[in-house]
Amino acid sequence: MKILVINSGSSTIKYQLIEMPNQAVIAKGLIERIGSKEAKITFQKGDFKTHKVLDIPDHQTGLAQINQLLMDDQIGVIANKDDIEVVGHRVVHGGKSFSKTAKVTQNVKEAIKSLSALAPLHNPHNLKGIEVAENVFTKAQQVVVFDTAFFQSMPQKAYQYAIPKHLMEEHDIRAYGFHGTSHKYVSEKAKTFLEAKNGSASKLITIHLGNGCSITALKDGLAIDHSLGFGPANGLIMGTRAGDIDQSVIFYLINQLGYSADEVNELLLKESGMLGLTGHNDMRDIQKKAEEGDKNCQLALDMNAYRIKKYIGAYAAALNGLDAIVFTAGIGENSALLRELVCKDMDVLGLELDTTKNGKHSAEINEISTAHSKAKILVIPTNEELEIAKQAFEITSK
Ligand code: ADP
Repeated sequence: MKILVINSGSSTIKYQLIEMPNQAVIAKGLIERIGSKEAKITFQKGDFKTHKVLDIPDHQTGLAQINQLLMDDQIGVIANKDDIEVVGHRVVHGGKSFSKTAKVTQNVKEAIKSLSALAPLHNPHNLKGIEVAENVFTKAQQVVVFDTAFFQSMPQKAYQYAIPKHLMEEHDIRAYGFHGTSHKYVSEKAKTFLEAKNGSASKLITIHLGNGCSITALKDGLAIDHSLGFGPANGLIMGTRAGDIDQSVIFYLINQLGYSADEVNELLLKESGMLGLTGHNDMRDIQKKAEEGDKNCQLALDMNAYRIKKYIGAYAAALNGLDAIVFTAGIGENSALLRELVCKDMDVLGLELDTTKNGKHSAEINEISTAHSKAKILVIPTNEELEIAKQAFEITSK
């Protein structure tokens, strides 16, 4: 079965055509700057890569272009667009209504639309992607995979905020969590890996460190706590987001320094985090500068690792033990330095890093703890598109 996975943003569409159940990526690519006369579309199959710059005024044209590339006489990979039996869409917010992947119906689309208030920057674009795909791939079954769904297993004590209860009951103000497809994917990989070696995988902590960062505690495969909340702002220090902060700062900025509420929001989401601390948001630049002796960059790395350490400690307490921690996403997979800073002096939790193994890169699962480390430390590359394809395959082949 050929499944087209689509991740639609405001001006981008990421796509992958995946053959299931053998999980082979047939082709993939990205459209950037939709709405511009100089939009860019990339296409890759195996080692072959190409791109075009052209006028793509809207998502409908974008998806039609993707379809054209997939069916191209020279470089295409399918003969007929109906060869695509399923289109799997990433949708950021499923609110409390969706704890699982769903087939698209009118009701599902209406629910996604009504959840736009909770994710105004994402859900409307995700919905647009679905509607456009329905027009282009008329024979395909459309499926939606929600970022939040994986966290619907969290107990109420973890997802409720200690504010007047009616705000949750009447307005759905509570923690939802994000990056669910990534945490699910790597936690399942970790479970298979650890159990194959007769190890336990009952108490896991998965750490997703990309531009956005989050950490999840899992008991027997289910999320029991997570660092992102009502929006994707809480918790770890991210590329441009502050993560945890005392709300008093917000009111000081507004009442004493004259910021508007929108300016504070912009400041905390787009100008803070590693960018606010160092002037850079790319971890590679920050590491390079830190190595050259830049004190701000050194401190920012320390702060970043310290925040992650604190969450690992909290989640190990919530789990009453720890079998393994898993690093994933751009920084988690590639920054040996940050992993080392996080895992240093963590023997109280049974974590002992093997610095030689930590320095090696692997495209597969890399176990970077020492042989006698009680809890394992793993690096597992995430693959959100494959996870979406897996879930779309599962629900449509039932
Ligand atoms: P997104 O959340 O946009 O999917 P990614 O998971 O691709 O982000 O992660 C982006 C981050 O990964 C950037 O901060 C980038 O600097 C970092 N990164 C990528 N490669 C490396 C590397 N070799 N060393 C350190 N950081 C890296």
